[in-house]
Amino acid sequence: MQELGRIYWTRQGLRLAYSAVMIWFAVALMSALMAKVTPAAGAGPSSAAGVLRGLFDGVVAAVTLPGVAAVVLGIVAAVMTNRDVRRRDPVRRFTRQQRREGMARAGGLCELEADFGRRCGRPAEHGDHFYPWSKGGSTSLQNFVAACARCNRAKRARIPSPAQQQRLERRRRDYVPPSSSVSVGERQPLP
Ligand SMILES: [Zn+2]
Repeated sequence: MQELGRIYWTRQGLRLAYSAVMIWFAVALMSALMAKVTPAAGAGPSSAAGVLRGLFDGVVAAVTLPGVAAVVLGIVAAVMTNRDVRRRDPVRRFTRQQRREGMARAGGLCELEADFGRRCGRPAEHGDHFYPWSKGGSTSLQNFVAACARCNRAKRARIPSPAQQQRLERRRRDYVPPSSSVSVGERQPLP
């Protein structure tokens, strides 16, 4: 799966940008609230309503830009989620044949990662989509990893990092029969 790096880093970047915008929003809001309030034009300088309106204007001015940025990022995220859903493989369950071949390739043991990038190696109970099904991962032997119950639960629907992919492919060179490919991960094309 060549494009995993691009997919993964795009999403990480989006997440980072969203956190940055939220911090920007909070800082802008705080400083607007703590700024010395200039009463709104036309109101008496000591009138409470004038002070409040001035405060309100200041807050609106301060949060407009980060607010627009948050909305734009939210739209981008919604478009990506929508495309993930459209990519979904109509078949979610691996066939018996795929399970048999995938489990045989893994020697019946979990292929996922324990600590320090080592192989988990507990008896595998599940066939797992390496690239998550919900994000458009294919129900194919190429996207099949043997997983124990614990790793399967821990993995959930997170997109694996390119480094995790490389480590799995490297580990596979040690146990996969020479007739099978070590490469892992497949995503459905957009319909
Ligand atoms: Zn495991």
